[in-house]
Amino acid sequence: MLEGKVAIVTGGTKGIGLEIVRLFKKNKAEVILFGSKKETVDKAINELKEEGLNVIGYYPNLNNPSDVNKVIKEINDKYGHIDILVNNAGISSNTSIEDTTYEDFTKIIDININAIFNVSKEVIPYMKENNKGVILNTSSMVSITGQPKGIGYPTSKTAVNGFTLSLARELAPFKIRVNAVAPGITNTDMVANLPKEVIEPLIKTIPLGRIGEPIDIANAFLFLASDMASYITGVVLSVDGLARN
Ligand code: NAD
Repeated sequence: MLEGKVAIVTGGTKGIGLEIVRLFKKNKAEVILFGSKKETVDKAINELKEEGLNVIGYYPNLNNPSDVNKVIKEINDKYGHIDILVNNAGISSNTSIEDTTYEDFTKIIDININAIFNVSKEVIPYMKENNKGVILNTSSMVSITGQPKGIGYPTSKTAVNGFTLSLARELAPFKIRVNAVAPGITNTDMVANLPKEVIEPLIKTIPLGRIGEPIDIANAFLFLASDMASYITGVVLSVDGLARN
């Protein structure tokens, strides 16, 4: 579904991002994964190599414009085009507002939304040159429902939805589509630390009767990245088993 396309996936070293990298690669894209440090990037590349999937990786500071600019230029020089950007890197929070410092709050906003602005801004000129492109952002179910604790996380994800919708409108004249996927609770390290007593009652509220697997989420990204979604832009696609609008 992605033959001939060049795709960058941030937060591609594990969880949902690694599954997106794997699925895009199996669908014949050239995939470049970004991670936060050399060790995790190397580990992901080696894991994929053992599966017969060859990708390359970088670890730019996503909040540093010149760092990202340099890496994106290097990628465009190497492949001649960048077709798909998946802004997936993210961190969560689960503390009460009293226990959240200004620095804690800012850290979440920095990685979950400011980095999306930064990486998109560096990639867009190359997409405009080709008069096509796809930008996909990882939102979350809690961008719609909120969550009882960890105020920075739903705040950042609601911002992702606003960013997606407005950027879709701004870039539509350049044939660049911008969409988001909003996963529900998904089986990655991000939820692995939640105790059984928290997870089991949550599962009871999901009509499909289970939490999501990374492949459930990656499949939605594959569809939106592909030409099958050629007339879809500005959408936040819920992938959460919740049977609601
Ligand atoms: P994960 O913790 O397994 O993976 C997070 C990824 O983000 C890693 O690859 C990590 O390297 C990267 N990352 C984190 N901080 C970074 C930084 N400062 N610089 C660069 N990269 C950084 O989590 P996941 O569940 O796979 O989450 C992926 C995305 O999905 C996130 O945006 C998350 O908010 C979103 N999401 C997850 C769930 C869930 O239940 N797991 C639900 C909704 C949305």
